[in-house]
Amino acid sequence: MTTPAGATPAPNGSMPTYLGMPSFPSAARTAVADSQLRRNLTHATTAIRAKRANVVRELDDWEELRQAGKAIKEHTLANLDTYLLRLEESVTSAGGHVHWARDAAEANAIAIDLIKRKNADKAVKSKSMTTQEAGLNEALAQNGIQAIETDLAELIVQLGDDLPSHILVPAIHKNRAEIGDLFRRTISEAPGDLADDPPSLTATARAHLRGEFLDAKVGISGANFAVADTGSLVVVESEGNGRMCLTLPDTLISFVGIEKIIPSWRDLEVFLALLPRSSTAERMNPYTTIWSGVANADGPREFHLILLDNGRTATLADETGRQALRCIRCSACLNVCPVYERAGGHAYGSPYPGPIGAILSPQLRGMTSPADASLPFASSLCGACYEVCPVAINIPEALVHLRARAVQSQPHYPERIFFSLAASILSSPGRMAFAQRLGSLAGSAVARRKGRIRRLPPPLSAWTDTRDAPAPPPESFRAWWSRTRGGAR
Ligand code: SF4
Repeated sequence: MTTPAGATPAPNGSMPTYLGMPSFPSAARTAVADSQLRRNLTHATTAIRAKRANVVRELDDWEELRQAGKAIKEHTLANLDTYLLRLEESVTSAGGHVHWARDAAEANAIAIDLIKRKNADKAVKSKSMTTQEAGLNEALAQNGIQAIETDLAELIVQLGDDLPSHILVPAIHKNRAEIGDLFRRTISEAPGDLADDPPSLTATARAHLRGEFLDAKVGISGANFAVADTGSLVVVESEGNGRMCLTLPDTLISFVGIEKIIPSWRDLEVFLALLPRSSTAERMNPYTTIWSGVANADGPREFHLILLDNGRTATLADETGRQALRCIRCSACLNVCPVYERAGGHAYGSPYPGPIGAILSPQLRGMTSPADASLPFASSLCGACYEVCPVAINIPEALVHLRARAVQSQPHYPERIFFSLAASILSSPGRMAFAQRLGSLAGSAVARRKGRIRRLPPPLSAWTDTRDAPAPPPESFRAWWSRTRGGAR
């Protein structure tokens, strides 16, 4: 067993499925050209945005709840070592087993070993962002073990050999007609005349999954919260498939990021009010499953909790960036983000898309790749994400902070070169006057009609490709002042 003291950041390969993804600007360029995708996203995010606003408005003390959620998470993160050890003790004394994993590879290896010891060649899964982050399904497949996603949206993604694009609704980029086509192609139980309405699609998925639930020896889950005092794990969901995964198989393996911990049951009360209103715009979740270790003749006989670091310890070391670890994965920030609404989730190259992905993924993985360094720039800094976040994560503040880190970590980052040059010019009146003269000359040479510049060479073409620019005036203010006031300054 690895102890928490041995936990280290795992920037390389910490999200193996997403290795080699393009950087945000190039992925987003492709995504925004897809008008069907934009229609699907706009339709889905507009509906959920309005519903969320209505149910939040019902609570007079929403802001107090939000600040309570923030305070509980901050306190827990500041004392994470204590609470993790308390959780380990509680789970163990309730008959469960705790495993510590430094990175995705360690977590996957633990799960594979456990499944092989049960002589199982498949496992049913409830929705879990953490297993997506670790690339568990792919690791299981490489070891001859089939992972069966049982959440409807995750099943759609899996059958389509696709990747999730939203935290809560992984198949948000697909519409009903596309899902109907997919089911007719991939599900043998699908009737030939399967309609594209939600009840028919859901009934087909249910028929497909029912046998898998009853056969499965092993279930795999994540957890929304882990209560340190009692060793209880909490899963909230809407479909009931999660509860079947958590209760029917003999062995249950839960992948949980170390930041999911909360100290006590009292704290859970706050989050069970914040999460459903922020995520599905419901007053409470249809299914809330809570289990503590194992119980005789009720649920799994064996319970394994895999606690995953995978870059979280490194994130905790950053005073501004660590607030991303407060996230309860409600997805409210995605639904209000104008950048997400146009670019979609795949452009973020990580299981965590949208504003939270733009600050969490580069911290978990490190900012050494162009894809990770580009993520903090995937925002207009409008602040809508901060306003809706139920644990008051100041995402714009973290974005600006991470932009500075991205620039500092890459010596040849264009902004770094540009601002070094600008600092040198702005700090010297002589250089400033020379630059202004040069700018006026160059501007009048390239300006076409009405004093506008239509096209500039790279890298300035990034601006003029989509808009024109005003030409610098033929004479600077300094030169005009000097000419008209006889050189007085
Ligand atoms: S950052 Fe806040 S709004 Fe976004 S998913 Fe996390 S908790 Fe929800």
